[in-house]
Amino acid sequence: MAHRSTALIIGGGVIGGAIAWELTKLGMDCTIVDKGAFSAEASTASAGMLCPQAEILDNPNHAELFKQSQDLHRAWTEELEASSHIPVQYMQKGMLRVVLGAQEEASAKALVPSAKTALEWLDAKDVLALESDVTADVRGGIYFPEDGQLHPIYLAKSLYTALQQKGCQIKEWTPVLNLLLEGERVLGARTTDGDYFADYTIVAAGAWSSSLLAPLGFHMPVHPVKGQMYAVRYASMSLQHIVQGPGGMIIPRLDGTFTVGVTHEEVGYDKRHTVEAVTQVHQRVKQFIPKLQEAIFVKTWAGLRPGTPDGFPYIGDISGMEGVFVASGHYTIGILLAPITGKLIGQLMTKERPCIDTAPFRPDRFKTAVTL
Ligand SMILES: Cc1cc2nc3c(=O)[nH]c(=O)nc-3n(C[C@H](O)[C@H](O)[C@H](O)COP(=O)(O)OP(=O)(O)OC[C@H]3O[C@@H](n4cnc5c(N)ncnc54)[C@H](O)[C@@H]3O)c2cc1C
Repeated sequence: MAHRSTALIIGGGVIGGAIAWELTKLGMDCTIVDKGAFSAEASTASAGMLCPQAEILDNPNHAELFKQSQDLHRAWTEELEASSHIPVQYMQKGMLRVVLGAQEEASAKALVPSAKTALEWLDAKDVLALESDVTADVRGGIYFPEDGQLHPIYLAKSLYTALQQKGCQIKEWTPVLNLLLEGERVLGARTTDGDYFADYTIVAAGAWSSSLLAPLGFHMPVHPVKGQMYAVRYASMSLQHIVQGPGGMIIPRLDGTFTVGVTHEEVGYDKRHTVEAVTQVHQRVKQFIPKLQEAIFVKTWAGLRPGTPDGFPYIGDISGMEGVFVASGHYTIGILLAPITGKLIGQLMTKERPCIDTAPFRPDRFKTAVTL
């Protein structure tokens, strides 16, 4: 049976969901198709860190992207919460990046004066006053007071319910087999549940996006980068902030658990949890949070980030093709960039001037030609 909607979104992760939310607000009738359950891939495996200040320090050329993401994020999650009545566990308590070695201290301090964002250098005693669970060997740290987090699983639940309230069709367990083409126009997608036709098709299939576009002769490299994390519980650990240190981070959650991570592994589409990777993360984080060695293990998980050669997403149309947009490759920052991605896709589709310059995120930036 054929299905029809104004916008067909391939991929029900946080990116596809954020786009559907924006498009339904613009009055479009939307359908999401996902090969599995809604948001069961990278989006719920994520740490849920919303750290635009730290991102601006590390990537000053993209300061505007991160600044606008931050400005949009709280309003976006409040809209979802108001519609779904499911809180996303948003907390803006700040993030602390601790420094252990003398050389790292010198490099970190050197970055602070020219930073284009809100941050503060803390000496060792101030780090320990802020977080007494940090190792006494700490030399100092950078504190990003405006950074924060949400809980990715609750974000997914909230987004799913809010989209359904808005009338968005969510078709789970419906893999897209290929895009439907007529000349240079994409007409929708062929799925295991028949053909889905749409005025606009948006490819938001995370780490799987390249293979959907390859049959168009369009080269848009996205590769899976596995991240493994684990959770612990420990009543004597009093961390209040996200603490990042050499090779890892630890995130306090509202339910009293702590999320610890994370690996970056180039092992293809393999999501198995490995003792070796979790052990390595544990050894690294224990160096700056020694109490971690006494904590009680809760669970471990893994997800596949959609990696790109420059670490930044593809957001835009495909030159030479009509009726198709791409929003993919958000790598380590997809939760943070979800609302701005939705907004930008909405602006590009309605030919409104984008709120930021999308040229650095063009889907064809690693190859411009489209050959059919
Ligand atoms: C361990 C880990 C920690 C992270 N921490 C953070 C963090 O702290 N902050 C942050 O901002 N980001 C973080 N990220 C990154 C973030 O999770 C991703 O960038 C984001 O989830 C990407 O969203 P997405 O919707 O593009 O991809 P996904 O969530 O992977 O969604 C893509 C969807 O497309 C579907 N799909 C694929 N192929 C098809 C097909 N053929 N047909 C139909 N559906 C298809 C998939 O089933 C999937 O549901 C982390 C990621 C990981 C793995």
